This record gives sequence, structure tokens and C-alpha cells, in this order.
Amino acid sequence: MLNAENNTSTTKSKMPPPDQNITPMMRQFLDIKANHQDFLLFYRMGDFYELFFDDAITAAAALDITLTHRGKHLDENIPMCGVPFHAAENYLHRLIRQGHKVAICEQTEDPAEAKKRGSKSVVRREVVRLVTAGTLTEDGLLEAGANNYLAAFGQTRQGARQEARQEENLALAWVDISTGDVQIFAGTFEAIQGRLAGLMPRELLLPDSLSREKQGLLSESCGEVVVTELTSSQASSESGYAALVNAYQVATLEGFGDWSRSMYAACGSLINYLTLTQLGKLPNLKPPRLTSADERMRIDAATCQNLEILQNKTGEKKGSLFAAIDKTVTGPGARMLSQRLAAPLAQKEAIEARLDAISFYAGHDAETMRTCETKRAILKQAPDMARALGRMSLERCGPRDLAAIRDGLARGFDLAATALPDIMPCPPLIEAALEALAALSSAPKDGEGKPLKDLCAHLDKALSDELPLLTRDGGFIAAGYHPGLDEARRLRDESRRVIAGLQNSYREDTGIKALKVKHNAVLGYHIDVPAAHGDRLMTAPFAETFFHRQTLANSVRFSTTELAELAGQISRAGEKATGLEQEIFDSLCGEVLAEAEAISRSAEALAELDVALALAKLACDMNWVRPEIYDDHRFFVEAGRHPVVEASLFGQGDSPFIANDCHIHADDKQGDTGRLLLLTGPNMAGKSTYLRQNALIAVLAQSGCYVPAAKAEIGIVDRLFSRVGAADDLARGQSTFMVEMVETAAILNQAGPASMVILDEIGRGTSTFDGLSIAWATVEHMHEINKCRTMFATHYHELTGLSEKLDKVTNITMRVAEYQGDVAFLHEVIAGAADRSYGIHVAKLAGLPTPVIERARILLEQLEQSREQAIPAGVLESLPLFAPTSSSAQVQDSHADSPADKISHAVAELDPDRLSPKEALDFIYHLRHILDAE
Ligand code: ATP
Repeated sequence: MLNAENNTSTTKSKMPPPDQNITPMMRQFLDIKANHQDFLLFYRMGDFYELFFDDAITAAAALDITLTHRGKHLDENIPMCGVPFHAAENYLHRLIRQGHKVAICEQTEDPAEAKKRGSKSVVRREVVRLVTAGTLTEDGLLEAGANNYLAAFGQTRQGARQEARQEENLALAWVDISTGDVQIFAGTFEAIQGRLAGLMPRELLLPDSLSREKQGLLSESCGEVVVTELTSSQASSESGYAALVNAYQVATLEGFGDWSRSMYAACGSLINYLTLTQLGKLPNLKPPRLTSADERMRIDAATCQNLEILQNKTGEKKGSLFAAIDKTVTGPGARMLSQRLAAPLAQKEAIEARLDAISFYAGHDAETMRTCETKRAILKQAPDMARALGRMSLERCGPRDLAAIRDGLARGFDLAATALPDIMPCPPLIEAALEALAALSSAPKDGEGKPLKDLCAHLDKALSDELPLLTRDGGFIAAGYHPGLDEARRLRDESRRVIAGLQNSYREDTGIKALKVKHNAVLGYHIDVPAAHGDRLMTAPFAETFFHRQTLANSVRFSTTELAELAGQISRAGEKATGLEQEIFDSLCGEVLAEAEAISRSAEALAELDVALALAKLACDMNWVRPEIYDDHRFFVEAGRHPVVEASLFGQGDSPFIANDCHIHADDKQGDTGRLLLLTGPNMAGKSTYLRQNALIAVLAQSGCYVPAAKAEIGIVDRLFSRVGAADDLARGQSTFMVEMVETAAILNQAGPASMVILDEIGRGTSTFDGLSIAWATVEHMHEINKCRTMFATHYHELTGLSEKLDKVTNITMRVAEYQGDVAFLHEVIAGAADRSYGIHVAKLAGLPTPVIERARILLEQLEQSREQAIPAGVLESLPLFAPTSSSAQVQDSHADSPADKISHAVAELDPDRLSPKEALDFIYHLRHILDAE
């Protein structure tokens, strides 16, 4: 969770108390600030945005800029800091990243207008935009390959009252306003936590009626997120319904599907918040897409984080599954791929459709590969049309956004025109994408409007080659496009040339070689001569032509009627040109927005092609295969690999990754192997890697990707659980063991026959026998009750005895090679059970001091002997279910009786100076006797 001030609403600053002697400008500042207390107020003054009072203190610290002061309030200096207007985006970025929200307050009238109301009157200012982490649209503030989601949690009042967990009472809606995608999901509280972990929204809206505990749970699922509380009226289903009807301009929401009241609340919260932050101007929102819980593989928040699907444990992309497989060449393609990984599908047909799209391009023949590379080269040049369109709908775009649409559409035509591999019928997803692109060239079906090809040609004709970022910089409309604009520019430029010529003629007339015609914001065009020549121009005959404007220390400034007239012409022509350019720009934007739907479709088509081509390339480069998808519970992988570990070993030039099989069969008929694989083996042998690689193969397969294996048959997994490693959750006051047990409880309570569970080291955070008992009971419960596909890695070798008793438990282990006391880990999974963990060997490799290693070896031997006494052979098999036994007492007692201890006691009690040679010899026999007795 990201927060400037402990979680919710980041910036809330204290309003200063009233002051009678306040200046009009400060009065205006405080009035505006009073309405935006959760925001840092960027108050425009000339070329700067200034911040005052607490805002200034906060921003100066956050941005590492100088804190100064301006004027007094209640006899105290008013803290102030400022950022230059032209570089504001960079500062905004840093503030937003740190969890702040910013209100941008601009001057909304000409200072000359303000002066007409009286010399002391203040220029009118208004907040024109509220910038928050979840409502960004600028490329400079966004990551090209990642969505920037604003999410809202919705519950009905009934849900809130009962703290109910029924699906119909809870919903989550999310929007990426930079692309206009809106989605909604109804589910349990846990399912919503899981969706949040996959989405990783930048900002989360929560009703203030939600308990603190639940607010905490939801925001923790998101990783780094800014949380904003909404009032009951902003977050209610009634106001949500009204906001949605208004936003989508429909009479009823029935057309959107079967919605519950909590869904109105969630989706309506988004709309209400956008209306507030975008000051009434809503982005171009696509109709909300409803995803139901059973369409997707459910991955809870802990599993999503454990498996490092989109981010590693420290919140970076590096080392994640996404980073290892992303070969897309466009931002929208990367976003589509990450969305798929975050929410894998759970329906065979939909998965097969995505796989068909990859297969279409994944032919290994050279011709197919060449075609694919040509397409990828075209895609690489396609700008992000979705985001350009998003900015346009919010009137926040510039000339380069028009060019992005033009170039994106053009790349669409190019792609539609490239040859298709002639290897199989075109799969529906590719066909739909190509159709959307082909439609760009044809006339709209309804006969209204022009084909997008015409729009593209029009934009091409209208735009200059070099485009500024902002319209105010001008010069973006091509010469020859608009006669009126050309004329205004000619007048402006000609007058400039005449002015440049004036400098020479004035120099000749006056004989002052240092005379210059200059321009500044205050005087406009003027004549500047060194101070020594000032008097000359103020006396006859020059005084008639040159009239004095300003005297400075080193120069004197003049004007002439001719210069003033020319300056007027330039300014009028310049204003006209700027006005005309803006008009043309607005009209071009209007034309683009009129085709927003078709442009969005082609942008999605480009992303679809990018993802299919990228995954096909990955499959060919890395030798991945198409998984076979089944509607049963099998999980059969031949020569599977871990995509991230393999890539990192490959990168380091280390020994190659060792592929391993995983056989879990569908049902009792095929009952030759188990449903619950119990994996024992030495430390560092690759157990965790094996577990994770199989979970990731399931995620990849159901996301519609090829998988790193020689063959894979995957029965659809409805829920994936992983309990891997251990971490203290100190922030929530939970110990390592507590976190482990909470995660295990979630699995035991929720996993069903279609689920897949990977469990790494259950019960390691407590005493040996407590842990063993818990692990034992867990295995039995999963076998008898959950009946899910399970891979369970453990160092409790005692558990391997369960395979004798439970018919679906299969023991597998990691192969090791031992030679002269040294051990080599072969990373190979084989049938059977390990008898040792080789922990001391790993400790030696890690560099523990030799005496500690030696001592540990002796102690291990002792402990193992006493454990054998504690759990005699055969006892495991005879135990009833859920009834582990024994106590740790014997283990502890055995310390005192170890031979090493007996020998050291005997030596300690000895006084060598008093021993006769015979007694010394007897003592040696005594020591030998102790050893022999053991
Ligand atoms: P521990 O019991 O100590 O947690 P572990 O058995 O779970 O260890 P891993 O953490 O999975 O072992 O793997 C240890 C190291 O072995 C990893 O860093 C990885 O680089 C390497 N490794 C794991 N599996 C393979 C494999 N199949 N091929 C090559 N190297 C592997």
C-alpha cells in the first residue's frame, strides 16, 4: 500500500486559521484550497505553479526543491515552493508515484481583463484538473506496457450490514481511463482479493462504510496502491445506477447483462469518481465487460504474489513470469498479455481459441517465420492508438496524438495487406483481427461516414512532418492544407522579414551600427541602442521617427510607427494562425472521435496480432509446445521446465535446466499414479522450482499460451493455490507460522476436485512434532476431502509412509549423486522417497565454520537414532487418520546422553596432573567403552 499519510486519501492538509489582513490573492488561494483539501494545490502564477502552506512543505520534501516563503499569515511567514510550468509533468510524476494527488489550478482570464475590475483585483483562477494515480492519461506518466487501473469495490447496504460474503453482495469494477476499458466482476471477498492481486490497480476506491480491517485486506492485495474513500452517497448502488445511465446515455442498464446491486455500486463509484476528478468530462468509456467467477481460473492474492506472475516479490517486473515470456513489440500488446496472465481462462473453448491463434503463426518452416517477422516489424512501428484516443476524449491531447492515430491506422492497412501463412484455415481470433483491419479500407457498413483509410489520408495531408507536443506551440498543420492559415502565416512571416530588414535601414539612417530590433514579452518589438546613443535618437531629426519607450542601465529602447504597425500585423496574423490551427485541430479530433469505436477495434486487433505473434515466436525460440486442454482433472506434463529459472540459467551460461515430468491422472480409472504427489529431497535440489514450474505451466496453458514442456495435457484448473516459502507479515501482526496457517486454512477450506494446489514446506515454522502432525493431517485431508491435484514438498520424510495407506499419494523425490562424502544435486525428479535432507551439506556449501558443521553431524546422528526409537517402523502405517503421535521429549532428552556429551563430561572431571600412567591408560579404555556402548 502506498500512502503519503497512512493509507487513505493521501494529502489531507491542515487549513490555516483565518486572518483578517489576508491579501486578495491569498484569499483566492485559500478558497480554492478549501474545496480540495485532499490534493496538493498547484496554483498557477505566471510561468510557475506555486504551492503554499502545508502543501509547500510536503511538496518541497517530496520533490527535494527549495522551500521559501512569500508574505505573512497571522504574522508568520507563508511557506512556498514552486515548479516551472513547462516542466510540471516531471514533478507531477514524482508526486503521483509517491501517492499524492494534485489539483491543477490555472488562470482562466487574461490579466488585462482582471485589471479592468480594478487595479487590486486578482486574476480569476479555477481548478481545471485533478490528477490522481488511477486517472492518468499522459504518456510521460504511464508505463507503455502496463495498464493503469482505477478499481472500485462495491457492496450493497445489506452486504455491509451483514458483513456478508455471498457473491451477489460484492463486486469489483475497474477502468483504465487511458484506453477506456471498463470491466466488472462479482464474487466473494476472497475472489475479489485475488482479482486485485492480478490487476494491481494504482488507485482503489473503497466505501467509507467498509471496516478498516477489510479496507486493509483489499489494499494489501493490490501491492502499491493509493486508497481513496468514497462517501456512502458516492458509493451507493442508487447513485451508481444513475451515474451509469447518465455516462452511457441509456435509459436502462439491462443491455449490459444481469447486474447485481453491488455491481451498480462498484461501477457507479468509478463513474462518480471520474466525474469528480475529470471535472465533469468523462473519458470515452467502452461498455462494461462482465466477467463471472467461473469464466476464469481463480488465483488468490497470496498465490498470485507467491508465483510472481506479473511482478517479483519486491514489486518489480524483473524475474516475473511476464518478464520471462513477453516478446510483444507494442505497448497495447504487452498490456493484453499481462491481462491474460493475471486472469487465466477456465473454459476450454476460449482457451483453445487463443491457442489456435498462436498455432497459426507457430509453424517452424522458414517461410512462416519470415512472414511473422515482417508482421512484427510493421507492428513495432504502430503507435499506441488506444491511449491517444483516450487523451482525445478528455481533450487532453496534442498534435502527436493525431499522428499516432494516422500511423496506427496506416500500420493496420500494411498488416492487412501482408501475406498470411498458408498452412491452415485462419483461426477465428486472427480472422476477426484481420477483418477489423481490412474494414479500415472499406466504407462503413451503415453507409454513414467515410472509410478510415480516408480519415488516415486526411490526417496525413493535414499534419506537418515535425509535430510539437502541445497545440499551443503551433506549426503542426501542414502548409497547403488550409488557404486561410497559409495566408495568415505568410503575413506573419513576411512582416517578420520586413522587421528584420528594418534593422538595416535604421542602422543606415542613424549611423548607429549597434542598433538592434529586439522582441520581449513586455515591450513586444522595439529598437535597442547602447546607452551612449540614446540621446542621439531623442533629438532632431531622429526624434520625429523614434519615440522613447524605456531607459535601462546599458541601453535605451525606442519604437517607430512603422515598427508598431508591423508588430501589430505580426501579432494579428500570428493570433489568426494560432486560432485557425486550433480550429483545424479541434475539427480533426472531432473526425477521429466520430470513428472512436472502429479505431478502438483496430487498436485491439493490432494488440491481438502482436500477442499471437509474440507467443508464437517464444514457442519457436524456446521450444515450447501447445498444451492439450481437457475438461477433466488430469495434469500430465512431459519434460516440463520453469520458464523463469530456465531463462536465468540460459542468461548466465550455467548448466542447462533439467526438464522433469509431472503425472497426475484424471480419475480413478487411470489410477496407476497419484493425485497427490509427495515430494521429498535434499535442500537445494529443486523441489520449489518443480512445484512452481507446474503451477506456472497451468497458468500459461489457461492464459492461452504455449508451455515450456515436450508435451502437456492439462485438465482445466478452476482454482490454483500455492503455499510457498514463508514470510512474516509484521505489518498485520502475523508471525511466519500464522501466515502459513492462514494460507493453509484457505486451501483446505476452498480447494475442490478441479483445483490444483502446490504446498511447499507446511508446518516448518513450529516445533518438529507439531509441524509434522499438521503436515500429516493436511495431506490426509487433501486426499480424503479436497481430492484436488496436489504437489506437496516436505522435509518430513515420515510422511512418505502415507503412500502405503492412502492410494492416491505417490512419493517422488529429487535424485542426488553421492561421491566420497560430497553430494551433487541432479535436479531430476524420480519415483521414490528421500531418506535424508543433506541440510548439513548445504550448510557447508554456504560456508558455516567447520567446527559447527562437525558438531552438527554428530548431533544429527544422535537425533536420527533417537527419532527411530520414537517412531518405530510400522507405527505410521497403523495410525488412524488424523492421529499423529509421539512427543518431542525423547529428542530433547537424547542430547544429554550422547557419547560426545559423555566423553566431554568425563574429560572435564579429570585432573591430568594427578593421574598415574596406569590410570591414564584405564581412562583411555573407559572412553573407548563409551564409544563401543553406543
Ligand atoms: P530447499 O529445500 O532448500 O528450499 P529446494 O529443493 O526447494 O531447496 P530450489 O530452491 O527449487 O530447491 O532450487 C535450488 C536451485 O537449484 C535453484 O536456485 C535453481 O537455480 C536450481 N534448480 C532447481 N531446479 C533445477 C532444474 N530442474 N534444473 C537446473 N537447475 C535447477
